[in-house]
Order: sequence, then C-alpha cells, then structure tokens
Amino acid sequence: MDGTPDTLLEAVTFFADAERAHQYAVLMRWPNGVACPRMGCGSASVQFIATRKLWRCKECKRQFTVKVGTVLEDSPIPLTKWLPAFWLLSNTKNGTSSCELGRSLGVTQKTAWFMFHRIRAAMKTGTFERQLQGEVEIDETFVGGKAENRRGNVGSRRGWGTKRAPKTEKAIVFGMIERGGKVRAMTVPNVQGTTLVPKLREHVRGGSTIYTDAAGAYNAAEWSYNRLVIDHAVKYVEGRVTTNRIENFWSCVKRTLHGTYIAVRPFHLDAYLDEQVFRFNAREDDDAGRFVSALKGADGKRLTYAALTASHPRWRGRPIAPVPPRRRTNDEPPISGVSDRL
Ligand SMILES: [Zn+2]
Repeated sequence: MDGTPDTLLEAVTFFADAERAHQYAVLMRWPNGVACPRMGCGSASVQFIATRKLWRCKECKRQFTVKVGTVLEDSPIPLTKWLPAFWLLSNTKNGTSSCELGRSLGVTQKTAWFMFHRIRAAMKTGTFERQLQGEVEIDETFVGGKAENRRGNVGSRRGWGTKRAPKTEKAIVFGMIERGGKVRAMTVPNVQGTTLVPKLREHVRGGSTIYTDAAGAYNAAEWSYNRLVIDHAVKYVEGRVTTNRIENFWSCVKRTLHGTYIAVRPFHLDAYLDEQVFRFNAREDDDAGRFVSALKGADGKRLTYAALTASHPRWRGRPIAPVPPRRRTNDEPPISGVSDRL
C-alpha cells in the first residue's frame, strides 16, 4: 500500500502522529470504504464521529472503532504504539522480547507480552490456506531443556524416582515444508504415527512426495504419499532425498526460543511457532510487506487475556469468569466505544 513506511525509523516517526496512525489503520482495514464490522452487519451506511474517532452504523445502530472486530478490540493501547509493535515483531529475525518492547514503548512488560501475543494471533496462518504439495519435507523436533534432562531419563540415570525428575519437559514440534513454498509447524503430544499421520493428511495433499527420516511413525503415510527416506544414522543427503530445509527451520526456531524468549511455557509454544512460521514464510518479502500482511491478519480475530492465560498451570481447572452480558437500557446509547481509547 502507498504510504507504508520502509524502515523502522520511518515507521516510528510516521505512526507517532495519532491522526496519521488512525488514518493508516482505517485505510488498511477498509481500502474500499468503511463497513460496519459488527456481527453479520457489513453495512457501508455509516457516520463518522471525528471527535471520538468512531463510527455509528445507520443499519444496526451500533458504534464501532477501527479496532472493533480485530485482535486489537478493547485494547486501551493507542495505535501509535500498536503499529510500531506490529512492525517490530514482523521484522526482527529472532523476535523481540516483551521486556524490550515494554521499554521501547513505555508500557509494562505484562502489557507488552499481551500485545505480542495478540500480534502472534494475527500472524497465525488461516485454515483457508491451501495444503502443501509437490515435494514436502517432514520432521519433528524437541524444544526446551536439554535432551539428557528429559523426564524419565534423569530418573533412570541418577537412580531417582520419577517424582524427583525435573519438571521441565521437552515439547515436541512437528513441521512440514514445501520445497520452494511454505512451512507449517505445530506442537504435538507425542511422535506416534496415530498422531503425526493425521496431521500430515490435514496439511499435505495426498499423492505428494514426502521426505522423512527413518522414523517408523510415518510408515502408515506410505499409503497416501510417495515417501522417500533419508536415514540420519547413515547420511543426511542423498540426491534430492534430504530434510535439510526443515532442519534449517528448526535451527531458526531454536535460535529465537533460546536466544530471545529464553523461557517459553509449553502451552504458549504454538503462538511462538506461529510467529516464526509467519516470518519464515514471508522471508522473500521486504519489511513493509511483512508489516502489512501481519496487520491484515489482525482482522476478524480475537484474543482475550482470560483465554490466553487460561491454560496456565496456576489457573488450570479453574473456571474462567464468564463475561457479564452488556446491559442496555432505553435511555442509553447502544454499545459505547468509550473504553476503546485511540
Ligand atoms: Zn452495522
């Protein structure tokens, strides 16, 4: 889009102006004119209230801001901070920590952490994306902690009971990369065929050629794919048969996780993978292009703090407090956008 800054410095300067940041976000979201984002409305018959930077829909009589219906909904953080945050996370090769973002934007680490998780939600690949096809490399890897400290290992090595084994368990990540195309990665509970092969069927078109290591988990995939095996106990490359591309992606993931994020809770790992996958798949793009596609991904998604922290062990099992229904009385204007400061 015209007017998108080219560098971080330009972006920071450009978006520092609240008016300009707002105009940019509006144009980016509604290039063909503002349309009501309230559920199922979509009416273009809207009236702009400039003083409050919100629109009133003449169809459903509701009000909305540019943040409504995106991952930014209900956020009190102004666009002047949101847009540079999008820029940073889209373009820093090894990610940015929430501590760094917090300091750069003048918000708390907790706020920055939540902002980044919302941006990661925006970066998440849509389910509408086509399946991988052609030649696809498949592999799985372990993330977090050292292999020798894996649960079970330590117990047997030191003669401990399993109860005294370290609590840090390695998470398993499953990945697929289309040669000359895109990568997909996700956490999986185990490396059994019954887990991996259904994932494979979901993401890779039947009849494609798949390259894997000698893991027996993929044997069942031979029914639907042309499987070529490279036995890593023997060698890593034989002609076209190699999984070097996906291995290369794993090294990017590990560099980011170990170098920048240091301690990622296993239940948040998928979000960090989404971020890495996003940057990897947009690696041919320039900074402005990556920024724009992350921003476009923000539309139609939602991530609340309650949902984000619900899987934390401290909260696990506790019911999430239900959101009280918005009360409307006759003398009150319908849904106010006041809480949504811009
Ligand atoms: Zn409407």
